[in-house]
Amino acid sequence: MLKDNIDSISRELPEGVKLVAVSKFHPVEAIMEAYDAGQRRFGENRPQEFEMKVKAMQEKYGIPRNELEWHFIGHLQTNKLKMVLPYADLVQSVDSMHLLEAVEEWGKANSKVINVLLELHIGAEETKQGFVEEEILGILFDAEKYTHVRFCGMMGMATHTDDDEDIRADFTRISTFYSYLRDLFPDLDSFRELSIGMSGDWRIAVEYGATMVRIGTAIFGQ
Ligand SMILES: *Cc1c(COP(=O)(O)O)cnc(C)c1O
Repeated sequence: MLKDNIDSISRELPEGVKLVAVSKFHPVEAIMEAYDAGQRRFGENRPQEFEMKVKAMQEKYGIPRNELEWHFIGHLQTNKLKMVLPYADLVQSVDSMHLLEAVEEWGKANSKVINVLLELHIGAEETKQGFVEEEILGILFDAEKYTHVRFCGMMGMATHTDDDEDIRADFTRISTFYSYLRDLFPDLDSFRELSIGMSGDWRIAVEYGATMVRIGTAIFGQ
């Protein structure tokens, strides 16, 4: 079942679009099942659960750390950095200046460069999380100031709706801005990921240039 889900999504994803299997709420056994099906890239959105699962895959199942790629995709409070930053290969959800500054400080203190995506607030969601365009512009103009953060691209979540037109409007906004930034900062080599698309809208996201899709339910079930 789970393997069928991963296989059919992988088959349909264009070459080069990365699949992040969002394993939140599901037990480590489910991650292991996905691993056996060939999946290597996982996303979690709660710091404690993230740390527990990273460790369990290594300690309980003996999977070497460098075989897996762990993405943190949820809201991150600055008092929880130590549960996430030592392990995360990519923090997709940097959504405020306060968090960005704290990640930079943590990186300095721990001699680690943290890979991040800047979250653009696009959807008409209740949540106010994410930057507006002007803030992301400001950060990237100052990118050199951040010696322990690597800006790898942008993440966004479309409005949660069945109306394709609303979803397309959100993806148009983020992908247009992403292209604009790539043109504006040609020397920012690391800035090359556009993480859009979830279980309900990943096919649309691919049309808008997603380089990475984050899929939970369509792989692991409800
Ligand atoms: C839960 C979650 C996903 C996956 O959602 P599904 O609809 O289950 O595929 C993707 N991105 C973020 C940020 C999430 O929190």
